[in-house]
Amino acid sequence: MQVKYFIGIASVCTALFLGACNGDGNSNSTQPQEQAKLQPIVIQGALPVESEKMAAQLDNATVEMIGEWKFWKGTYKGYPVVISKTRMGMSNSAAATALAIQHYKPIAIINQGTAGGHDPDLHVFDIVLGKYTTNIGTFKTPNKPVGGGSNALEWNEAFDVLPDDESDPEPIAIRKFEGDKELLLAAYKAKPNYTKGQVVEGTIGSADTWNNELDRIKQFHTVYGTSVEEMEAASVAQIAHQFEVPFLGIRILSNNITNNGAYDPATGEACQEYALDVAEQYMKAKAAAK
Ligand code: SAH
Repeated sequence: MQVKYFIGIASVCTALFLGACNGDGNSNSTQPQEQAKLQPIVIQGALPVESEKMAAQLDNATVEMIGEWKFWKGTYKGYPVVISKTRMGMSNSAAATALAIQHYKPIAIINQGTAGGHDPDLHVFDIVLGKYTTNIGTFKTPNKPVGGGSNALEWNEAFDVLPDDESDPEPIAIRKFEGDKELLLAAYKAKPNYTKGQVVEGTIGSADTWNNELDRIKQFHTVYGTSVEEMEAASVAQIAHQFEVPFLGIRILSNNITNNGAYDPATGEACQEYALDVAEQYMKAKAAAK
């Protein structure tokens, strides 16, 4: 199966920028007016348990509803931040992303929250940084006659919903969106502060499906290289890519049936704490580079 990789814009951290990224010595001298000049960073969570903890930590927060989508706008450590509750699933998260981009013109988007493990080496409370994020819900199935049944393990062709050639009627490819390198750098700066589990790079797989079939999970892990599955990140990555906004998925394992990792709801808050820290590191680097 063909694999395509896409790199989000502005993802190349130049030597010049790296200097600025690592300029922690300057961070305390960042003036509030410099911080305020930055466009806000958007941090998304699907559920209340994946968003409200972050919202409660904003200063001067105002709540804005656009349709059913809730946004808290404020500052965190002086940096402009918008927390977005997307609600669950691919459609909701795509809509929330397009609305946030149009309304807030964000400097970057982080999609974070809970996920189920596909990698037996990862455990509940471990965090996966989405070096890649990919849709694991788009397929062209084999032909079978009436009475021929259905076996998802035979679905060997991924349908690419964003083909370069729009006239191609059957674009077959696994499309992977690459996490923004500057956001990844910020995630590494925040990593030492996270003590509840490991923080690793991996591939986040998304679909409007909760998979509990271990053979199917193993197939995704092998064919797509997925570390975890959830229901939003690839949809957000796609819309962010189409609007050329830097994006990173950050997902905590709340469950992992490949190693009997039982669901723990406390993971939702832990991931929010980490994501806010990543956002702070990212904005600090951006303010220092101004
Ligand atoms: N069980 C949770 C509800 C989570 S439902 C509870 O009782 O609170 C699905 C949401 O959790 C989606 O937003 C999805 O992104 C995430 N999720 C967590 N683990 C998942 C898994 N194993 N498969 C799919 N989505 C998962």
